Order: sequence, then C-alpha cells, then structure tokens
Amino acid sequence: MTTDHRVQGIAVRDLADTFGTPLFVYDADVLAAQYRTLRQGLDPSVEIYYSLKANPNVAVCAELHALGAGAEVSSLAELLTAARAGVPAERTMFLGPGKSADELTACVKEGVGLVVCESFPELDLLNDLAGQHAARPSVLLRVNPAFSVKGSGLTMGGKARQFGMDEDQLEAAGNVTARWPHLHVRGVEVFMGTRILDSSVIAENTRRILLLAERLADLLDFPLDVVDVGGGLGVAYFEGEQDVDVDGVTGGVNQAVLDFRGRRPGTRVIMELGRYLTALAGLYVTRIRYVKTSRGERFAVADGGTNHHMAAVGTGSFVKRNFPVQVLTDTDRPATETWHVTGPLCTPNDTLVKNAKLPPLQAGDLIGIHRSGAYGPSASPVLFLGHGHPAEVLVANGTPHLVREHDMPQDLLAKQRLPLHTTHPVRS
Ligand SMILES: *Cc1c(COP(=O)(O)O)cnc(C)c1O
Repeated sequence: MTTDHRVQGIAVRDLADTFGTPLFVYDADVLAAQYRTLRQGLDPSVEIYYSLKANPNVAVCAELHALGAGAEVSSLAELLTAARAGVPAERTMFLGPGKSADELTACVKEGVGLVVCESFPELDLLNDLAGQHAARPSVLLRVNPAFSVKGSGLTMGGKARQFGMDEDQLEAAGNVTARWPHLHVRGVEVFMGTRILDSSVIAENTRRILLLAERLADLLDFPLDVVDVGGGLGVAYFEGEQDVDVDGVTGGVNQAVLDFRGRRPGTRVIMELGRYLTALAGLYVTRIRYVKTSRGERFAVADGGTNHHMAAVGTGSFVKRNFPVQVLTDTDRPATETWHVTGPLCTPNDTLVKNAKLPPLQAGDLIGIHRSGAYGPSASPVLFLGHGHPAEVLVANGTPHLVREHDMPQDLLAKQRLPLHTTHPVRS
C-alpha cells in the first residue's frame, strides 16, 4: 500500500496520470470552507465580492458565486468570465486604473452593478459614454487615502499611487452630481493592501475607510449607498508566518460596521477578496524529470516551475523563502535530504524551492506546492520558453473535473504570423 497525498480521497498520483503534469488541483471543499468561515463570522449585512484577479478560472468563480459571492473584475475577459460563471451583471463590479473606452462602454451597456472609477479623466469619459447610451451607471470613487496602517505586504495609503484619487483632490472635487450628471455616484472604494496577516490592521483599515467615506459623501454631496472597504486578508506562505485570524477580522470589522450602521443604517458594505478565498484550495503538482548534483548540492528538475508559479520564487524578499512543499508520492519517506526543486526554464530564477528538506527524490516523483490557488499561472510568465498554461482540475464532491486544458504548442503559435516579405522566392 503506497502512501500518496490525496485530495478529497483521490490520489494526486492518479490525477497526474489522468490529466498530465504540471497541473493545478483545486479543492472545492477548501474553497467553500474559506468562504463559509468568513461568511459565518461576518455581519450578514457585509457583502463578499470575489476578486477574479487572484484566480480567473471560470469554475473557481462559479463555485464562489454559488456560495454567495459577487464578482470584482478588471478586464473584459474577467467580465465575461464572471458572466459565464453565472454572476449577474448587477452583482459584478469593474475596477482598475486604466479602463479602456470599450471596457467602460461594456459596463454601461451590460449594466455592471458598480464601476469603480480611479481618476477624474476616467469619470469624465464614463460620464460622456453614459450620456451617449442614455444610461446612468452606478459609480464608486476609489480613494487613495492620506492615511496608511502598517502591517500589509503592500501598503496603499499615504503614498503616490496610480490607483484611485488622492483624498485631498477629491475633497476639492465639488458637487459630483453637477459635475458628472450621467453618473450615479453611490459611494467609495478603498483598497489598503494585500496579504495582511494582522487582523487588527484590517479592522482598523475598515474603521477608517468607513469614516472617510462618510466624510467625503457629506463634503461632495452624494448619498452614501455603498462603501467597499477592500480586504486584503492574507494567508501564510513562509516559515514563521500565521494565517490571518479570521475571528479577529470579523470581530473587528463587525464592530466597525455596527458603529457605522448606527449613523448610516441603509448603506451597503462590501469586502472584496481574492487570495484569502482561493489560495489554500490550490495545489501545484509537478513531476520530477531528472535528479542531479552540482558542486555537492542536489537538484530535482521538474516539468513545471516559475512559469506557472512565479509567487513561489518568493520575490520581494532578500532571502529565498519557500512555499510549503511536499513530495506527493510515497509520502511516508522521511525527509532526510536537502534539495533544490527547479523547473524547465533556462534561467537560474526558475527555482520553486531552495534548500528544502525532502526525502531522497527520483525521476517520476510528484512534488506539490501547497497554498497555490491564488496568483498562480495568471500571474506568472506562462509564455516564457513556450510551455504555455498548465491544466487545472477542480475536485468537487469527490469528482475531478478538468476546468482548463493545458496549452499545446499550436495554441501558442495560433496568433503569430510570418510577414509576407520573409516568404523568399525559391531559387532555381
Ligand atoms: C488585488 C486586489 C484585490 C484582491 O486582493 P487579495 O489580496 O488577493 O484579496 C482586491 N481589490 C483590489 C483593488 C485589488 O487590486
């Protein structure tokens, strides 16, 4: 009897044999557990929107929507994905600092529930487009707040940013209804940062964002129908880290919302989340092709690497830190050796894990990188060296579903053309 890592009782070895490697495996039970933990703790009046940026697979979006999430999208492809996943346009919000006229027109024509505007010229353009279509889209003003709260991997407030409009510029914006008559300005959106592991930071962000939203609504004279307080709930990847304490988050956010409700009973409050909802559900599976040593160090060269999982490189920190890694086949082998697991790319950066404690490895072994459901292939250079996008499998109710085929070489060539002048005449 072999000891293999399993997802909902299915040996990953079998998934790899059926669907090939490299492979992303998503566990729908884990997606649901993450969603429900937050949903059950959070005040029922706080809405949860799923940020497709974290994992744009249509099946992942559909799972989260079935659980009750709306969708936050930032491109026409993500808008279409949300629609295919069954999210109604009214429960979709469109966000992003560089929306095209086509994207804004789609928001207007398809009745996207909330358009989050990030600059004054964007408001002007959307106002024109709305006028042309005799529509009045609902708009949130994205604010780049003057404050910041320490403790996020990426801090947004109090800095020069391409996102949103500076708080002080908005304060001087005047009456928004008079200025943009074709827009229905309904509220404010603020996103304070990503991968926040300290629940008190999220609570404090929420409290301050709600206050800021009230102040701006009074100053600019619009009814405050909606506040999107962002989110940024983090998950632990590296040694010494701990997942954000969800009870701490919900306790703090609920208290802030309760205070706010006392003053603004009818205002919708939204949280938008990507990583927290999807990261834990994903397992990246690669198969070792070759093992070798170089100057006394052990290398396992696998069939996939940073081309599918750039986040695992651990960029942004001086020392390479490893995502949680595990051998998935014959898991009872003791971890007695130190290995680098690298991918197929011709760059030394293609190192999935460095100096990891693993059992003696051999060609054919499967290696898993856990917590890989967010910012995987879509945030990685999948075209680098032409290996293309890996397959994705969603395991739901004990059944694996192929939810994305891996790319074939012809897929990568399908949109390339030879210019006519390189068709040289044949010499006789
Ligand atoms: C990236 C992003 C999110 C999702 O962030 P996570 O940390 O993955 O939850 C939400 N809102 C905005 C504006 C973003 O840019």
